Amino acid sequence: MPDASPPLSVFSIPLHTRFRGITVREGVLLRGDAGWGEWSPFLEYDDEVARPWLACAREAADAGWPEPLRSEVPVNVTVPATDPERAHAIVVAGGCRTAKVKVAEKGQALADDLARVEAVRDALGPDGLIRVDANGAWDVDEAVRAIAAIDRAAGGLEYVEQPVMAVEDLAVVRRRVDVPIAADESIRRAEDPYLVRDLEAADVAVLKVQPLGGVRACLRIAEDIGLPVVVSSAVESSVGIAAGVALAAALPELHHACGLATIQLLTDDVAAHPLLPVDGMLPVGRPEVDESALARLAATDDRVDHWRRRLASVGQDQPV
Ligand SMILES: [Mg+2]
Repeated sequence: MPDASPPLSVFSIPLHTRFRGITVREGVLLRGDAGWGEWSPFLEYDDEVARPWLACAREAADAGWPEPLRSEVPVNVTVPATDPERAHAIVVAGGCRTAKVKVAEKGQALADDLARVEAVRDALGPDGLIRVDANGAWDVDEAVRAIAAIDRAAGGLEYVEQPVMAVEDLAVVRRRVDVPIAADESIRRAEDPYLVRDLEAADVAVLKVQPLGGVRACLRIAEDIGLPVVVSSAVESSVGIAAGVALAAALPELHHACGLATIQLLTDDVAAHPLLPVDGMLPVGRPEVDESALARLAATDDRVDHWRRRLASVGQDQPV
């Protein structure tokens, strides 16, 4: 039977450390007239949730992206919930002016967060920016207490990302602290940013191009909600990250470093030149896909079958 489907490649890239319970990042690369697009919805997502992720890949492959307004975008280094010495070393090695520090880790105490943030300040110097990310782990009272203490230890925070999980609680915390609040987990579907805006739950919106349906969809959301945007990745290969970079490059205003320096979380990449930051910046443009890397990282036949079935199911209303 002739294969009428367009060029498609299923990749499987091991992660250095477990992320969201997975140790391997899988996804599909679709090639169209404009280039490669990445479709890598997480495995537990149903078709409806995975659909905007596909719209993002199709935009990249078929339409391309709006004209960039800048040639590079600033990114942050991410510091996991590790000890102060290692946190210091990660920031120094990262070469970025902004550090995002994970806090509120299960099994750790506030003192651990304070020590880590102090080490990061020491590594960054007085001019660097520190943001912390609690991934929704605190309750409202814990958040209010912890944010004040961490803000002092950091010598001032740029913002706190998702201190509490529920968007209603985010709004409450925002009214009780002086540090700006960013919404990340509260923004997963296209309607979510509008709720964040209507509840005045955040000062900054973290947008990811795949879950929100692509670069143009995110530009519309950013314009509608009128909040400063931080573009983050969904831990994609360089092909997927390039779409996030394209959004950051096309935003009329970009006030904050983006969370797009995540290629280091993967052990390998599909691009000849992976999107690694240089002096805290990522270049705008399309990374060249390396055919030998596609072969090296090709998923097994049963996983290719899985993704082809999934693609047919999610894309059934639109020609694949
Ligand atoms: Mg986050």
